[in-house]
Amino acid sequence: NSNRQDKDKEVNVQVVLRCRPLSDDEQKLNVQKAISCNEHKKEVTVLQNLANKQIDRVFTFDKVFGPKAQQRSIYDQAIAPIVNEVLEGFNCTVFAYGQTGTGKTYTMEGGMKNKGGDLPAEAGVIPRAVRQIFDTLEAQNADYSMKVTFLELYNEEVTDLLAPEEYSKSAEDRQKKPISLMEDGKGCVIVRGLEEEAVYSVNEIYTLLERGAAKRRTADTLLNKRSSRSHSVFSITIHVKEAVIGDEELIKCGKLNLVDLAGSENISRSGAREGRAREAGEINKSLLTLGRVINALVEHSTHIPYRDSKLTRLLRDSLGGKTKTCIIATISPSAHCLEETLSTLDYAYRAK
Ligand code: ADP
Ligand code: MG
Repeated sequence: NSNRQDKDKEVNVQVVLRCRPLSDDEQKLNVQKAISCNEHKKEVTVLQNLANKQIDRVFTFDKVFGPKAQQRSIYDQAIAPIVNEVLEGFNCTVFAYGQTGTGKTYTMEGGMKNKGGDLPAEAGVIPRAVRQIFDTLEAQNADYSMKVTFLELYNEEVTDLLAPEEYSKSAEDRQKKPISLMEDGKGCVIVRGLEEEAVYSVNEIYTLLERGAAKRRTADTLLNKRSSRSHSVFSITIHVKEAVIGDEELIKCGKLNLVDLAGSENISRSGAREGRAREAGEINKSLLTLGRVINALVEHSTHIPYRDSKLTRLLRDSLGGKTKTCIIATISPSAHCLEETLSTLDYAYRAK
C-alpha cells in the first residue's frame, strides 16, 4: 500500500532474506527442513512442532530468496539498484548477516574460481558489483577511477587484508601495525594505514579476494574459528570526472561497502568461556551496535549511536542520510538450526 511505499522512500534500509539449500551431507543424513519460503509473497515460514502442536511463524521481508535462488537473480533484484545509486554518487552498504555456515561468504564472494571472460554462475555480490560498475562506466565512456580496500575487524581491531605480506606473517605481527580510524571533521571516516588498490578489470578482483581470503585462512589456523568471529569489509570507491569548468574539475564520488558480518551466533554465545569473554564481548559490540544504529535510523531517532563500535564508526558515512542499506539475512533450512534461525529472523525483521 501507499503507506509502505512512503516508508520505503524515507528509510532506505532494505531487508532481504536468503535460505540456503540443504548441503549434500545434510541430504544424505536426511536432515529435516524447518523453513518454507514463498518468494512471491515475500514470506518465510518457520515450521515448528511443539508438544505435538504445529505452530508456524511467518515473517515478511522486502524480498525472499529460497534455496533454489541463483546468485545472479539475487544480485539483479536486490543489489543492482543499489550499485546504480553508488554510480550516481551516493554511499551505500550491503551486509550479510546470519549464523556461521548459512551462506554469508557464498553470497558476498561466491565461487572463487574465475576462468576469465564471463562471470561464473557462482560469482557473488562483490565480483558482480565490480562488473556492473565497469560495464556502466565503460558504456558511458566515462573518465573514472576505481579503488578498493578490504579489511577485517576482529576484537575491535582493524586488519588490512590487502597489506603486503611482510606486515601479516602472524596475528601478533599484525597487531604491531595497528590501523587507526580518524574523522575528518566533516563526518567522514578516514582509515589510516590501509592499502588502497586501483582496479582496472573484473579479473583483478579475484586476485584481491583470494589474497584477502588467504590471509583470513592463515589467521584462522592461528586462532581457531577467528573468521566466524570477525567482520570483513570490502569497499569500492569510484571517482567519475563529470566536467571541467575553467581550471576546476567536477568529480562525482560514490562508495559501496560490502560487509560479511561475524556469525550471528556470537551474539547469543557471548562470554561463554572465560578466555573468550573479551572476544565475544567485542564482537557483540559491533554486531549489537549495528543493530541499534539500524533501528535508530529506521525509527528516525535523533541520536544514532555510530560512535559505540568500530564497525559503525567505519561505516558512518555510508549509513543513514542519503544512503541506501541492504541487509541480506542468511538462514539454514535445517531443523537443527531452528533456534539460531529464529534469532536471525527476529533481528532482520526488527531492521525493517
Ligand atoms: P558463512 O560465510 O555464513 O559461514 P558460507 O558462505 O561459508 O557460510 O557457506 C557454508 C557452505 O554452504 C559453503 O560450502 C557454501 O558453498 C555453501 N552454500 C551457502 N549458501 C549456498 C547456496 N545458496 N547455494 C549453494 N551452496 C551454498
Ligand atoms: Mg563466511
